[in-house]
Amino acid sequence: MITFATMLQKEHSKPTQLLKANKLNHTRVRETILAVLAGSDVALSANEISSRMEMDCDRVTLYRNLKTFVEKGIIHQIFIDHLESKYVLPERDVHSGNGDSEHIHFKCIHCSTVQCLHDYPVAPVELPEGFEKLETNYVIFGLCNTCNLKDES
Ligand SMILES: [Zn+2]
Ligand SMILES: [Zn+2]
Repeated sequence: MITFATMLQKEHSKPTQLLKANKLNHTRVRETILAVLAGSDVALSANEISSRMEMDCDRVTLYRNLKTFVEKGIIHQIFIDHLESKYVLPERDVHSGNGDSEHIHFKCIHCSTVQCLHDYPVAPVELPEGFEKLETNYVIFGLCNTCNLKDES
């Protein structure tokens, strides 16, 4: 659920403002997708977004809008493997307004959640001469702290 507190915390990622700032037409589907992502602490797959939307949205429309958001840099696409992607609203620094820096992602193999570990930046990698980095896709697979503690008890 999207609580008032969540919306306050993420004032800068309000769906209507994000759409406006990126010169995208305001549609109910777009606003709902962004509201679902803003209300989640973990990255969501297209299926998970769809099931939380509480409105009819065909897959083509959903994927087309997710693609637009990714291209505009409004959301991050995390490639888990060749079949699965998860989507997340980037945390923005409220004061500087900068997008977030490259960070490590963690996928829990037990509960399947994917989290952005914002405090764990990706170490710079030296590439061979002539190679140009476009983006980094760093996903660590393992047990999240919730599942790990459960297993110990
Ligand atoms: Zn877990
Ligand atoms: Zn992330």
